[in-house]
Amino acid sequence: MKKIKEILDQTNIKPTYERLRIIKYFEENNNHPTINMIYKEVVKDIPTISKTTIYNALNLFVQKGLVLPLVITGTEVRYDRNTKPHHHFLCEKCRKIYDINIECPYFKKGYVDGHKITELHGYFKGTCKECLKKESNFTLSVRLQKRVGEPTR
Ligand SMILES: [Zn+2]
Ligand SMILES: [Zn+2]
Repeated sequence: MKKIKEILDQTNIKPTYERLRIIKYFEENNNHPTINMIYKEVVKDIPTISKTTIYNALNLFVQKGLVLPLVITGTEVRYDRNTKPHHHFLCEKCRKIYDINIECPYFKKGYVDGHKITELHGYFKGTCKECLKKESNFTLSVRLQKRVGEPTR
């Protein structure tokens, strides 16, 4: 908890109990959460907290560079505690966002087609490895069930 307080002190953010709890959520989950995801967890500890409080805290964190807003899904904002430039993978099945660490040669150079780069946002969409695993287990069990259900001669 002390480390979290230091993070807020460094950025001149008043360390209220709510803000500390939200940062703790980020430290415990590397999951690029939505406001709702944070709310569901934090409300267990602070039953009086509102989504607006979380929204305001996140806005402040974004302004201070503590978290990055990600608009990958197109329908919701996800928040990232990892503010170093990195790519993402969005699973279209489970909506999980994974960090992808690949080096972008243009970002390293700092320029692309003569334009100066300040930020990098790259992402892939598809089916994540966890969902692929589930899918192959599913097809396997369907195949097995079929075999069991086959008429015996
Ligand atoms: Zn998935
Ligand atoms: Zn990320």
